[in-house]
Amino acid sequence: MNDIDLYISVLLKFLTASLLLERIIEFFDKVLTLIGLSVGKKSQLMKLADIPLDDKEQRLHTLKKVLIVQTAGIIIGTLICYFSGLGLLKELKLINGTATNWWDVLLSGIFISGGSEPIHQLINFLKGHKEQLKLETEKKAQQLKQRNNLQIARPGSKIGITYDGGLYSKQPGHGLRKSNPKYIVIHHSGTSTKATFEEVVNKEKQERKNSRGTYRLDPSFHAVITYDGAIHNYCRWDSIGWHVAKGPRVSNANSLGLCFVGNFHNRATGKKKPSEEQIEAGAKLLALWRILYDIEEKNVLRHSDVRRGRIVCPGENFPMERLVAKSTQWIKTWRQDEEIFKDIERFKKLRYIYV
Ligand SMILES: [Zn+2]
Repeated sequence: MNDIDLYISVLLKFLTASLLLERIIEFFDKVLTLIGLSVGKKSQLMKLADIPLDDKEQRLHTLKKVLIVQTAGIIIGTLICYFSGLGLLKELKLINGTATNWWDVLLSGIFISGGSEPIHQLINFLKGHKEQLKLETEKKAQQLKQRNNLQIARPGSKIGITYDGGLYSKQPGHGLRKSNPKYIVIHHSGTSTKATFEEVVNKEKQERKNSRGTYRLDPSFHAVITYDGAIHNYCRWDSIGWHVAKGPRVSNANSLGLCFVGNFHNRATGKKKPSEEQIEAGAKLLALWRILYDIEEKNVLRHSDVRRGRIVCPGENFPMERLVAKSTQWIKTWRQDEEIFKDIERFKKLRYIYV
């Protein structure tokens, strides 16, 4: 409950008490008049009843009556608060504790003896204030939504994948493709699981130094997924990478390479597996690639499937079936979601995806 709601609910309690008090005072006022009349003489009480007197007396009389009625109001109000346990400061949570202090009771009595009208006004004021706050909050939410909409204007934000041509967007890897890729090949980096994307790239540069010690721009994989589940785009997706030796079906020209940082080969590492974050991100990227290039599930292969017997990449411990099944699940889920479907349609229009 926010502050204003608290104030309103407290005031409503006091409004009830105040209305009760008003009825009692009204009754008291009537009894006062009646006693005055029935006694039949100009007693003090009689004078207090509404009998016209001269101007000065009238004022004095009114003053006295108001004084008596107000004092009675405060006394009765205090009694109401005392017996119902109402304490203004306590209810407003301005003082601690569950017991009601005598001065809080007195203050509450004075408060309700002022009548229901001021309480009504207070409640109306707070309600108006609340309305205004609500409008302001709605306006702010609207602005935030608009700002978010601008942010999600970036294609891929709905599936958490962004792409802008990879590490060397200005230069196609080993030349542009002639047609869309038909295969996706899964690799591991063969490094420690802690290796960063930069370290994987540097390792590659060291391995591919030519005789003069220089490195030809040679991006291998189209994406590298680090152990924390971050996707690092590397070779341009519309370009030929350098990650498989040409096999009977699969070649660099007709495939995309996806690398998971780590070494999942049994003898090398003792049963290390990719992290769940890696698998989750990998499944999403696979799903996206399969949608973009219409690649069949059976065409997602391990590097070791491309050249059987000679290569262990991505290792025996790599959960290949689970990864592919997850990507298929994502494709199904996304196709049922109109927003995501639209997002992917916009993704298709990005640069460096199709030749
Ligand atoms: Zn490999």
